[in-house]
Formats: sequence, structure tokens, C-alpha cells
Amino acid sequence: MRGLSYQELAVRIMTPYVDGAMSEAELTDLVTDAYRDFDHAAIAPLKQLDGSLWFMELFHGPTLAFKDYPLQFLGRAFDHVLARRGRRVTIVGATSGDTGSAAIEACRDRDAIDIFMLYPNGRVSEVQRRQMTTVDAANVHALAIEGTFDDCQDLVKAMFNDTPFRDDMDLSAVNSINWSRIMAQIVYYFHAALSLGAPDVAVQFSVPSGNFGNVFAAYAARQMGLPVDQLIIGTNVNDILTRFFDSGVLETAPVKPTISPSMDIQISSNFERLLFDLYDRDGGLLNEAMEKFRTEGRLAVGDNRWQQVKSLFVARRIDDARTREEIDRVYKETGELIDPHSAIGVAAARDARRDVKLPTIALGAAHPAKFPDVVEDASGVFAPLPHRLADLYERQEHFTVLPNDLAQVQAFVRDHAKSGAAA
Ligand SMILES: *Cc1c(COP(=O)(O)O)cnc(C)c1O
Repeated sequence: MRGLSYQELAVRIMTPYVDGAMSEAELTDLVTDAYRDFDHAAIAPLKQLDGSLWFMELFHGPTLAFKDYPLQFLGRAFDHVLARRGRRVTIVGATSGDTGSAAIEACRDRDAIDIFMLYPNGRVSEVQRRQMTTVDAANVHALAIEGTFDDCQDLVKAMFNDTPFRDDMDLSAVNSINWSRIMAQIVYYFHAALSLGAPDVAVQFSVPSGNFGNVFAAYAARQMGLPVDQLIIGTNVNDILTRFFDSGVLETAPVKPTISPSMDIQISSNFERLLFDLYDRDGGLLNEAMEKFRTEGRLAVGDNRWQQVKSLFVARRIDDARTREEIDRVYKETGELIDPHSAIGVAAARDARRDVKLPTIALGAAHPAKFPDVVEDASGVFAPLPHRLADLYERQEHFTVLPNDLAQVQAFVRDHAKSGAAA
């Protein structure tokens, strides 16, 4: 696999997973198209931070965060399969920031998809809002809900639970437990490791984590045979993952707002995938454990299972002060500006890498210009938007403000989706 382009590698990695669902030629077309507009020829370039610490820039897609890497592919794959089946879907989602814009960019102008993205009015950053509202496409609807992010999520859940509505509208989701997203994320782990000498050299990854999707893709890459010696998880003070890897106990806690908002989560929705392996892929046993976790808010996996994960995973909690220090340090030592989420991965890597002789690759999760205030506050330097988004603040915004009211949101979706009509 060494020497393959990012796109060629993506086809090689994903072919076994789509076996039968589409031909290699179709997959090649989708992949080529998905990464065509990325603004760096390497797609996921590496920068060196110290003797053995590397930084993988995953912000060269349209919305400047790593979620573009899976979602640009997923939007096209959805469209392709739906067109072949003569069907349409209505995607509804709730966002507190990054996911919304990445999903909108992935679905814009797709023939078989309408997308409705709910966000809390006045409670997302201006860059994040503008990335959603300045997309001018007939099938894209940014809905500013007069409520909190939790209200938005509740509205989305309620729409899915309304079976006649769900069926009528062919509702669908592109949330982070969608396997295709994980599958497309596996690619950049191979790409980085191969660039640094794998499979002859083993590597370590450090991943700033929230829902556990990104780092699960690293784990999956290892299961596929990539020599990964250690997986370092960086969390902010919303540290359910750090507490788990420190103790073997998974326990929820209330969410605290931080300067890395895309990692402000209470429960990591993809974590069940790792537990599935830990429970020997016994679905019944895992279900029992998850049921206990849901009712009691706490799950102890037992010493054996804990030892098993500890040999591969280590996690570190990085608070806001340390995050700012790390942004400043990287800028002073290398001249690179990094965003707060990425800084958590870099700081965790410095603290926890087992072998400083092996390459450690920290993930660059978002472009620093998405969080200009925090970055400037920490480093004294303003991070300008890249060329392609330089006029973001001048672009026309399109959005609809709606009350936190299920009936009114549903009426809007009904009136503006083409799904119901076509079906
Ligand atoms: C989504 C996101 C994360 C968290 O990734 P998970 O896959 O949910 O663990 C971290 N940083 C940024 C910038 C994100 O957008």
C-alpha cells in the first residue's frame, strides 16, 4: 500500500467493506469526487512537531474539520445508492457546531437528499453558524431553534419516534455511529502510518476524543493489521473516557462547557463498539451490560477486561488552561497555529507516549480559524480563514428561525422536503 495516493488507498481500504454493494469502479468514482475539492494535494498532510511527534492535518475539506473526511464520502455514497434504488431520504440532525456544517456540505446539491439541520439559535459560534447558513442549495435547510442544543436533539428524536412521520418523510441520519463514517476514517490512519514507515515501523496515535468515533477508527485500522503500538486518547474535563481507562468503570457526569466544545459530551456513543469486542462479541452479554449502564449510569467491566484495553489505550484529561498552554507552545516551537481540540491530542501525546523513538501522530481535528478567539487568546496570534472561506463573513445567510415546538418543526420539514411528494 505504500506510495498509493490518499484516494487510491481509500479504495483499497474500503473495498472489502462495500463488497457486493458497489463495484470497485463505482467506489473509485465516489472517492475521487469526495476528495476533489480538498485544498491540499496530500489530503491529510503530516507536519513534524518534535523529533518523533507528528501532526496530521485533517482540516483541508470544505468545513475545516476532520468530519469532512468521512462525510464528503458518505453524502455521495448515500446519493449514489438511493439514485440506483429510485428513492429519496430526508436527513434531520441536531448540531452544536461542527457536525452540522460538515453534514450540510456533504449533502448539498445531492439529488436524492433533503437535509434539515437544527441548531440552537444564538448558541453556536459565528463561524460555525455561517458555515451552515451560507450554503445556498435548495435541498439544504438550516433551522435556528429557539432553545438549547438539548431541545434540538429532543426534537430530532421525537421526529424519529413519530413512526408515520418517519416513514412518510423517509427520515435518515448521518450521525457519528454510522459505520460508513468510521470506515472512511480508517483510511487516514493507514495513510499516515505508511508515510512514516509502517508496516516496518510501528506507530502511536493520539486522538482528541468525544464520541469515540475517530479513535475507534484507529482501533479498527489496527484490527485490520496496521502496526499500532498505542492509542492515546485526549479528553477535556468532560472525561468519561479518561476515567474509564484509569479505572475500568464507565460513569456519566454532567457536561461542563469548555474551549473545545466538540468534545463536550456526557456519553461516548461509539464506545459500545469497543465494549462489544471486550465482551467477546457476545451481543446478549453486552446488551445486559449496556442496560445496566443506562439505568444506573455506571458500568464496571471487571479487572480482566480493563487490563485488556489498558495494554493498548491510555487516556489523559487536558483542562482549558493546559490546552491554551499547548497552543502557545506549539506556536512558539514550530510556528504552527493549532485549534483547541487538536491541542488536547498533542498535550496528551506528550504526556502519555510510551516510546519516544516510535513516531507518534497527533490528529489535527479542526483548523485554528474555526476557533479564532481561543487561539488568539492563547498564542497572541490571529488565525485567518483559509483562502476558500476568506469571504465567509460577507456571504448571504439563509436560515429559518422556529420555536421549540415539534408540530411546527414537523410542518416545516413536510412543506420543504421533496421526499414525501416523490414517495
Ligand atoms: C467531532 C470532533 C471531535 C470528537 O471526535 P469523536 O469522533 O466524536 O471522538 C473532536 N474535535 C473536533 C474538532 C470535532 O469536530
